[in-house]
Amino acid sequence: MKSITTLDLQYAHRFYGFKGEAQYLHGHTGILTLEVEDTVNMGVNMVFPCNEIKKTAWEVLQNFDHALVLREDDPLLPAILSVYEKQGIKNGAPTNKQKGPAFKTDFATAYPECRLVVTKESMTVEGMIKIVYDLLKDKLNIVKFTFTSGVNGATEEYKAHKERARCPLCGIMLNENGVCPKCGYRA
Ligand SMILES: [Zn+2]
Ligand SMILES: [Zn+2]
Repeated sequence: MKSITTLDLQYAHRFYGFKGEAQYLHGHTGILTLEVEDTVNMGVNMVFPCNEIKKTAWEVLQNFDHALVLREDDPLLPAILSVYEKQGIKNGAPTNKQKGPAFKTDFATAYPECRLVVTKESMTVEGMIKIVYDLLKDKLNIVKFTFTSGVNGATEEYKAHKERARCPLCGIMLNENGVCPKCGYRA
């Protein structure tokens, strides 16, 4: 069975070098649907609690929310950073609180202090799925991602990992020592 949850992200981007309106900076509400598959955990009668899927995903994905996403070769990147620098907000601001841990993968680097994500490829809906799967594949048993942004959408399916041990009391994944990181249950 699958547990399914969604989260939404407000972001700005553009497709540098693209011959169309999208070469201009613009914004979206993107909706990411995550599908996690496993057996039903008899203790809680769930595959995985959706609020926990959301929490795990949001930890990294909040770096894309109210963020600017630009490709690494986009000349807007140094231009914007220089404005942020002059304004004194490049390395953070007291009101910039919603930050996940900085990350760097083959596909993207997050700079939470200035709400910027620099990507290797243009951040299309397809590109976003590649970035996000890479960030979350080891944390959740993801079998499908769907990302929509306005009228654009993309979806990708993945092979499920083998069954993972979950806490019979709160449903979240046990750590490598067989202990529930939330309630302390031991297998
Ligand atoms: Zn767009
Ligand atoms: Zn537990």
